[in-house]
Amino acid sequence: MATLRSEVDVAVIGAGAAGIGAARRLGREGRVSVLVLEARDRVGGRVHTIEPAGFPLDRGAEWLHSADRNPLSGIAKSLGFSVHRRPPEWTNRLRRSGETLEAEADWVATRETQGQARRRAASESDDRSLASVLVPGGRWNRLLDATSTWGNGAELDRVSVKDYVRYEDSGVNWRLRAGYGRLFERISKGQPVALQAPVSRIDYTGRLVRIETTRGIVAANRVIITVPTSILAAEVIRFDPPLPDKAEAAAGLPLGVDDKLFISLSDSFPGIEPDIYLVGSTNSRETMSYQVRPLQRPAIYCFFGGRFAAALEREGEGAMFAFAADELARLLGNDIRRRIAPLASSAWQQDAWARGSYSYALPGHADDRARLTAPVDDRLFFAGEACSPNFFSTAHGAFMTGVAAAEAALASLGRLATEAEVTA
Ligand SMILES: Cc1cc2nc3c(=O)[nH]c(=O)nc-3n(C[C@H](O)[C@H](O)[C@H](O)COP(=O)(O)OP(=O)(O)OC[C@H]3O[C@@H](n4cnc5c(N)ncnc54)[C@H](O)[C@@H]3O)c2cc1C
Repeated sequence: MATLRSEVDVAVIGAGAAGIGAARRLGREGRVSVLVLEARDRVGGRVHTIEPAGFPLDRGAEWLHSADRNPLSGIAKSLGFSVHRRPPEWTNRLRRSGETLEAEADWVATRETQGQARRRAASESDDRSLASVLVPGGRWNRLLDATSTWGNGAELDRVSVKDYVRYEDSGVNWRLRAGYGRLFERISKGQPVALQAPVSRIDYTGRLVRIETTRGIVAANRVIITVPTSILAAEVIRFDPPLPDKAEAAAGLPLGVDDKLFISLSDSFPGIEPDIYLVGSTNSRETMSYQVRPLQRPAIYCFFGGRFAAALEREGEGAMFAFAADELARLLGNDIRRRIAPLASSAWQQDAWARGSYSYALPGHADDRARLTAPVDDRLFFAGEACSPNFFSTAHGAFMTGVAAAEAALASLGRLATEAEVTA
């Protein structure tokens, strides 16, 4: 592999959604030299599409959340991607999972009441956890905890209520038939990305910032750092002078754990409608959410999070499959066991360059997102999903922070085109 020896205007660290967003914005300016340094042998980071059985599977991000406000919706369309707009049936999955319509209505009402209690709690001066607003002994408390592990990657007692309510969700969710990962592969085509180039040190004592990678040293005027908070908190990248404030802010925004297990479903299994959702158990924290025959495919996608996911990751795909098979047999009958087989799975906490799935804020740490994002010395800029004030934990949130960091870097270089130049 070629040794890197270069001097650029802007170096971007990480080729995930944020890094690709930053490089795209810098590339559009046309007057700056750019190099993206990526540790893995592929782009996309936590957005990764695989195809082990003739149809695409998203190991990480799948949904264009807030699709009507998501810049990637328009980009996907303009690049010719087929966008699937049917709304997911997330609200009526209880009735399909053995609960009565009355029970489901009670669950929906409880979620609404919890939403109001969370907003009230967030307006108080002291931050606290989502668990603190639960009704003691509430009928749905365990399911609320399970859904927190799916949405936040962590149980309710770990999550800041102030941060939680800052997340914006327009309620519109779309999917790309080809897979979300393919979109980032496409956007990054032609971008100057150096793969298998993990960064270990950033020295900004000199006129140029010196970036040490296993493939050599790169000098840059400006640097955009988009690595996950798990990497910053563990100080996998050393800064000189050190940046203890960044490591602390990153530690306040740990990555929760969410994983997927993909199961093949034999075509001969009758009577299952496509694109329905099931929940394995409505009274356990340790349960999975199931997407059955998504996009009419002969498959079931299983989704699970929190401490439960971390433990299953350690046990491996066999344990994930055994758990899912038991829950599916309870829901759909024992015959299902003969019709399913494991296809693929993720283990994001064990992934060396992610070390988790997406960020949440610990109680008392909601303002760490702004602390993490603040530039250093007008030369080091920070981006990534954890830096998003309102779309954190998502691919579009990450992408938008990359664009914002690119614009800040360009402005500091005096290269951000003015409105007059753009329209001239
Ligand atoms: C199971 C799962 C389901 C999800 N579902 C959705 C969804 O449906 N919709 C949605 O919008 N979001 C979803 N997400 C979240 C979304 O994938 C992430 O928020 C987003 O992709 C993060 O992008 P990023 O650029 O901030 O970070 P990353 O994608 O992690 O990119 C950072 C890059 O930096 C690289 N890197 C790390 N350390 C170094 C180093 N030292 N040197 C060089 N490079 C380094 C990494 O390899 C990586 O490529 C999901 C995530 C998971 C795991």
